[in-house]
Amino acid sequence: MPDADLTAIEQRLGEIEGALERLEQGGYGTCRACGQPIGDAVFAADPAAELCGSCAPGATEAG
Ligand SMILES: [Zn+2]
Repeated sequence: MPDADLTAIEQRLGEIEGALERLEQGGYGTCRACGQPIGDAVFAADPAAELCGSCAPGATEAG
């Protein structure tokens, strides 16, 4: 497996670990930037999302 893939996986793992911490602490599902609930559409695309559709950079753009 190329190193680039491994780096991406490690970064992803960090995001998921952060989501699990928020889940334990009761902050999961709430945008870290504005405090509003993160929508189902965002979680459908990224279950580890920590920003709502309005706050996530490039959320409305493909890619
Ligand atoms: Zn937000």
